[in-house]
Order: sequence, then C-alpha cells, then structure tokens
Amino acid sequence: MTYRIAVLAGDGIGTEVMPEGVRALEATARRFNIDIELTHFDFACCDYYLEHGKMLPDDWHQTLIEFDAIYYGAIGWPEKVPDHISLWGSLLKFRREFDQYVNLRPCRLLPGIKSPLANRVPGDIDFYVVRENTEGEYSSVGGTMFEGTEREVVIQETVMTRHGVDRVLKYAFELAQQRPRQKLTSATKSNGIAITMPWWDKRVAEMSEQYPEVSVDKFHIDILTANFVMHPDWFDVVVASNLFGDILSDLGPACTGTIGVAPSANINPEGKFPSLFEPVHGSAPDIAGKGIANPIGQIWSGAMMLEHLGHKDAGDAILAAIEAVLEEADSNVVTPDVGGTGTTASLGQAISERIEKG
Ligand code: ATP
Ligand code: MG
Repeated sequence: MTYRIAVLAGDGIGTEVMPEGVRALEATARRFNIDIELTHFDFACCDYYLEHGKMLPDDWHQTLIEFDAIYYGAIGWPEKVPDHISLWGSLLKFRREFDQYVNLRPCRLLPGIKSPLANRVPGDIDFYVVRENTEGEYSSVGGTMFEGTEREVVIQETVMTRHGVDRVLKYAFELAQQRPRQKLTSATKSNGIAITMPWWDKRVAEMSEQYPEVSVDKFHIDILTANFVMHPDWFDVVVASNLFGDILSDLGPACTGTIGVAPSANINPEGKFPSLFEPVHGSAPDIAGKGIANPIGQIWSGAMMLEHLGHKDAGDAILAAIEAVLEEADSNVVTPDVGGTGTTASLGQAISERIEKG
C-alpha cells in the first residue's frame, strides 16, 4: 500500500528542518521498501496568512482528511502574526477537528547530548509522556461575574468525561504493555483537587485490571515534577490530564538536553482521522535563516510517524541512525546547540546516509 503524507513546513526554522525530515523519510522508505507519497502544501504558515487573511484554505478539512498522516514543521512568526491567530488557526484546529486526543512525547537522553541533570547518561532517561489532548482543565466552560469591580469572580471548569479519560488511559496502558518495563505512572492531585482527580485515580485503577502485567503507580503532580528531575530513571510511561500533561511534556524533554532534538505526535489512535507529527520546538525566529537549527526533532518525529503507520522497524532504524551519528560524528557535522559547528544540512545528511547504510 502507498502511505499518503501531507507535508506542512510552517514558519521559521520549520522550513529549514523539514527538508532534512523529508530526506530521512525518503532514505528510510528506500531501505525498508515502504511506499510513501509526500504532498507539500503552502498553507498553515504565516506567509499564507499574510496573503490570504487566513491560515488555511476553506477546504482544508476535505483536503487533509484524505491523508494517512500529517508531517508538520513549526508554526508562528509573532512579529508578523500574533500567536493566537497562527496557532489557533492551524495546529490547534487540526488537533480538535481530527480528534487527536493523544499527545505523545518520548523523553530519551541521546548519546553526545548533555542532560541538565547532573551525571545522567543515556539509558537513565527513557520514557514517554502521554497527555490527554482534548478536554480536562482546558475547557472553555466558565465565565466572569462582576467584572472590573471589587466583587469580580472568575471561574473555569475542568471537564472530564469517561469516554475522554478512558480512551487516553487505554492508549497509555497499551503502550506500557509493549515496552520492556511495562510500567505506568499516573499524574494525579487527588489530595487537593477533590472531585475530578480522585475520579481519575478510580478510572486508572479500574482499567489496570485489564492489564495485569503492567505495574502501576501514581504521584501527585507536585512531587512528580520533582521526581522527573531527581529520579528520571523511575519512569517508563507517564499518563496525565491535559494540564498536567502539558507541564510534564515540556519538563520531560527539557531533562534530555536541547529542545532541538525532541519529537512529538498528536494521535488519533483509531485512524479515523490523520495523526500529526511535529518537533517540540517552535519556529525559533532568533536562529531562523541561519541554517543552524538542529533537524533531529523533525527527523525523529518522522520516525514516530512511520511507527504509527505500522513500521516500527523503520522508526527504530531512524532513531538508531540518529544515535550513531551523535555518537560518532565530528563536531563540524553536528549543530551548535549540541556543541558542534555544523549546519542543519550537514547533520541531516549524515543521519540520512546512516539510515541508508543501516
Ligand atoms: P514557540 O512559541 O512556537 O514554542 P519559541 O520561539 O517560543 O516558539 P522555540 O522556537 O521552541 O520557542 O525556541 C526556543 C529556543 O530554543 C530558541 O531561542 C532557539 O534558539 C532554540 N531552539 C529551538 N529549536 C531549535 C533547534 N531545532 N535547533 C537549535 N535550537 C533550537
Ligand atoms: Mg514558546
């Protein structure tokens, strides 16, 4: 079968790292005999907005729903277009309309990259954060009363549904089940948030009965963030509500060194809609145009995409190539964020060559 992939490079360094992501995908497809068809679009970026007054064409939904996956660069150019327009007009629309209810971020310390945590080496940090991506604390339910007066009251509700929570827990349990350690950690705060969080704990406990081989623990979010820093080796798969997951999915990759290498996926696991794969970093206006952005976050996101499409061996090969290059490459190959003097292209090319060589 042919996998159809929509490519949206976005803004800033998105347009610089995407060609390296594409080069790595094509190298992988050749090596593993996977038939992929990449279609590039010029929308979902700030230049498109400046020309058309909107981030997406009116028929974006019909256009993109035909694809097996969306490969995304980075969005935003705050000087030209405010973030609430660029972000809400593209990425957040995709997440919502394509029901990408799982946000998945691997947190893995790669060789040759220094963790900000003292004395941590590859192998010490290797876990996933699974964030609920559609409901929870980020509901728009609430309002303001007596606005502008001494009696002003602001309320925003947390909305959790059994359907919404169970489906992300199921994803997390199944991920844990496939990993060697088979361990799941739940982020809670049932000692302070007295209605939703004890209920979340109950859903976790009930679902764990279906996965007897997965060992389960839970931490309150405050001590959990501390343990990410103190004991990152404790974790395997960490599942969290939208807000807690938002925090953990920035903290986790931060513990693994540079933001330039971190990948992420927004997944609709049933495949009813296309899932979206993008680096964690943004458009980085400060280094855009210099050709020095690290392409690993983009390339690794492509590995997650191939794994999602059923080719875990191909995804693993990309990660192995990234690790081999980081371990062996001269400093004139790797980018400045990881201590080298190389460019986006030199690092991307080295990884693609390594993928093909095997
Ligand atoms: P956003 O709001 O979309 O997250 P941002 O500009 O606030 O965008 P990033 O784009 O993620 O944040 O960049 C944060 C910093 O990290 C930037 O100053 C940039 O120098 C650095 N950075 C980000 N991505 C990379 C990369 N791929 N390679 C090297 N450095 C990067
Ligand atoms: Mg930012």
